[in-house]
Amino acid sequence: MKHLTLAALGLALLLASCAPAAQKHTATLLAMDTVMELTAYGPEGEGALDEAQALIQELEGLMSATDPDSQITALNQGQTVTLSPPVRELLAQALELCGATDGALDITIYPVVRAWGFPNEQYQVPDPTALAQLLERVDYAQVTLSGDALTLPEGMELDLGAVAKGYAGDRVMELFHQAGVTCAYINLGGNVQTLGASPDGDPWRIGIQDPEGSSYLAVVEVTDQAVVTSGMYQRYFEQDGVRYGHILDPDTGYPADSALSSVTIVSPSGTLADGLSTALFVLGREGAEALWRSRDDFDFVLVGQDGTVTISEGIEDGFSLQGAGTDYALEVVRR
Ligand code: ADP
Ligand code: MG
Repeated sequence: MKHLTLAALGLALLLASCAPAAQKHTATLLAMDTVMELTAYGPEGEGALDEAQALIQELEGLMSATDPDSQITALNQGQTVTLSPPVRELLAQALELCGATDGALDITIYPVVRAWGFPNEQYQVPDPTALAQLLERVDYAQVTLSGDALTLPEGMELDLGAVAKGYAGDRVMELFHQAGVTCAYINLGGNVQTLGASPDGDPWRIGIQDPEGSSYLAVVEVTDQAVVTSGMYQRYFEQDGVRYGHILDPDTGYPADSALSSVTIVSPSGTLADGLSTALFVLGREGAEALWRSRDDFDFVLVGQDGTVTISEGIEDGFSLQGAGTDYALEVVRR
């Protein structure tokens, strides 16, 4: 009798939490310079995936700094632009994060990003004097956003590359929710975002990549959250035996050198998770911990070059080192 009750309860939970696994819909697309995989469950999933793909392409067309027709390119060329609502919304959120991270995230870093050749993959180590001059054009605090207008001082250029995928994730989740989808999982090139619980009613189990290898080193369990990783290994070039990563320290103009191999942020907000994963990679372990203590809207996984994995206590339950991760030492930071 007891067994039957449990079985019935289990079934009820399954139905309440998610659509049957049989109605799984998937789509793969190339956008924002990466491979994106979208998965949505239930009868509404199929149509929602089509809309989501169109939405992502639209956002990319508005925000890409390398697309000659985007609003960001127009701003970077000094044109006056009436910002479309998503661009305005993301710029507002991003500027707030630049302030919250004291400029470790700085969306005006584009002149320096270009000097390193990251956008067109013509990599080079810039001349230090040239770099110092370019850094004078990097300061998010000089950007003013007022209504649907943005004022960008002359010579300054925007790069939303550190936050655009996170924002796209938030918008896709919103679209799914409005379409009646209750269970979905998307992976926008390392930016994972989940809607609801997994089809079996348990939390989603998200693998965190081993920065040194092709497999994953930990699993984190989440429901309704974004899990976003930034790391040196995602984009870099090597010259004379030195590896130069694509996350730059706005203070120096050089690749962030914070003794971390990767930073993963877990948060209900994809934009916040994306912005902070980049910023905490610049800030390093101490800065990351200090920022975490000052707010309550995210948790982190820091993979250190010294073989330590540091997590914040909010994700301790359901977090486990796996595979290559079992060689790492786990440290939990508490409030
Ligand atoms: P990915 O795009 O690989 O997921 P990130 O979210 O960390 O990685 O974004 C990195 C991109 O953001 C870089 O390619 C560059 O365009 C831009 N960027 C690099 N450093 C910074 C920084 N300190 N602040 C803001 N944007 C940055
Ligand atoms: Mg980011």
